Amino acid sequence: MADAFELHDLAFDEGLMPADPMTVDQWADRHRILSTKGSAEPGPWRTDRTPYLREPMQCLSPSSPWRRVVLMFGSQMGKTEVVLNWLGAIIHLWPAPTLLVQPTLDMAKRLNRQRLEPLLRETPVLSDLIAPARARDSGNTMFLKEFRGGLFVLTGANSGSGLQSMPAAYLLADEVSSYPFEADDKGDPLENAEARTSTFPMGKVLITSTPGTRGMCRITSEYETRSDRRQLAVLMPCCGSLEVLRWREHMKWDKPEGEVFAQCPACGERVSQHHKTTMLAGAVWQATAKGDGITAGFHLPGWYAPAGWTSWEQIRDEFLRAKHDPLLLKGWVNKRAAEAWEDEAVAVINAEGLMARAQSETFSSGTCPEGVVLLLMAVDTQDTWLETTVWGFGRGEEMWRIWHQKVEGSPAEADVWEQIDSIRRTEWPIEGGGTLTVRHCGVDTGGHFTQEAYEYCRQRAREGVVALKGSSTKAAPALGKGSRVDVNARGQTIKRGLTLYQVGGDTLKRTIYARLKKDAPGPGAIHLPNDVTEDYLQGLTCERLVPKMVKGFQVLGWENPSGARNEPLDLTVYSLAILELVKRRYSRASFWDQLEAAAEERRKPGAADKPKRRRRSEPSGPGFVTGW
Ligand SMILES: [Zn+2]
Repeated sequence: MADAFELHDLAFDEGLMPADPMTVDQWADRHRILSTKGSAEPGPWRTDRTPYLREPMQCLSPSSPWRRVVLMFGSQMGKTEVVLNWLGAIIHLWPAPTLLVQPTLDMAKRLNRQRLEPLLRETPVLSDLIAPARARDSGNTMFLKEFRGGLFVLTGANSGSGLQSMPAAYLLADEVSSYPFEADDKGDPLENAEARTSTFPMGKVLITSTPGTRGMCRITSEYETRSDRRQLAVLMPCCGSLEVLRWREHMKWDKPEGEVFAQCPACGERVSQHHKTTMLAGAVWQATAKGDGITAGFHLPGWYAPAGWTSWEQIRDEFLRAKHDPLLLKGWVNKRAAEAWEDEAVAVINAEGLMARAQSETFSSGTCPEGVVLLLMAVDTQDTWLETTVWGFGRGEEMWRIWHQKVEGSPAEADVWEQIDSIRRTEWPIEGGGTLTVRHCGVDTGGHFTQEAYEYCRQRAREGVVALKGSSTKAAPALGKGSRVDVNARGQTIKRGLTLYQVGGDTLKRTIYARLKKDAPGPGAIHLPNDVTEDYLQGLTCERLVPKMVKGFQVLGWENPSGARNEPLDLTVYSLAILELVKRRYSRASFWDQLEAAAEERRKPGAADKPKRRRRSEPSGPGFVTGW
């Protein structure tokens, strides 16, 4: 991707640069009048009142090479003013098709009434430029305004058709964390809106929001993954140092009702908030990451609000009230700290936490701890490799991860499947003596090698290999009833043909994540070997349950926001699905008794040499397997 500076040079070469060198902040200082209706401080706009808005506004100006500007701000910090100032300057100086997107059509209506109408009416240079409203004409309706040389559309992210309306040189995407995940079945609203700008090489995009919940928060992912992550370093009056102020480290008070002060990170001096004006006037934005080269990102917590706005004491009082209530605290973290909230259900399951727990386990890959009485294996088919996990199960569905391996090679090649066979037939040592082999194996037959996977399952059905496929139905049961996929030319089912089982991944992922949270051994616990890799843990924990819009309804669905390879999770899902299948073949009451008895038998010295007895209750033997 060409970076912003290359695009900038390119535009110069092509003579695309608009002539007016004014910047957005200069335009606002010269022309913007704050109305009595929409503003607590009416009168001429002064950027000096909120100096931290100057640099974002400069980035939005045609003279700046930055193509995307991301504002991750606390609430009431002035980010909507940036939206309005930019819009005013566009209409006045750089007319072009412009799209402003609010989370919903209702919010778009409210913004129009409370902020836009006053902006256009009370800023003298703008009032003449907007086409006067005409009855029965779309020229100045709620969501479409024509101005000299341009067109301005205001819409809601919940309106899929509104977002697909027109190409736009400028996109203003406001409060993006509240956008639905999908609008009218037409995909991601922010992506759709931004796609409108692709035909304008010098187009610009402004994305603003307070953050929401991590993993489903657009502004956090824009700021963290694409932008150069600027933070505001204020000028400390004590020693002249430039410092980024963080709540837990630097904002202090002696008693809960006392004054709040900032402890200077450089000299340790206590600085009270009446210095705010000079601190902000001398503040600079400091980039902390490289970013994608075209996105400037600004993070601004509430304690940087100018003097006379939200006070440090107010923010502290809110913090103390919210501290012990997750819901209140979420609001405080989002609106004041301007940070994404780590949902407890999600935060507990992270790769780092699991790594620490795994390292305290006493078993390593390739051995079965004593509680293991059943080994199940799952195989995932990819285009250029097979991936497999062997899970050990004990009483109460306590689980141990015994083995995980990637077998490189196309599933069209027989030797790849032979390697799977050798893992499947491995005799894994049990701590305290004896061995266990995989009892049943489930193969994911989705993907591009369905016939190869079917063939493998068909040939080894008597060895306990079954064909699985992820169900596309929401809230599908963990394991479907099974349907015959082998039919002859006349549509008749072939005897001894293959049965395919649908796996309800959504349901099983909930089970897995709930169990991963369990920190103590026992029923339902999931144990990971002490030599487990970071990659494996990333893959196991990469998905998040997030709200999505499906046909206008908000539902919870699994997403993989980090884009990590999720095979470790899928293979765990398939292993639990096979466990369901095994359980169907047993009396539930005596399920673990039977398995433990069988395991005990195998552990006796010389057990492997004895001819196998066939008992209906024993979990091995062809009588059991052919039923599948
Ligand atoms: Zn200092």
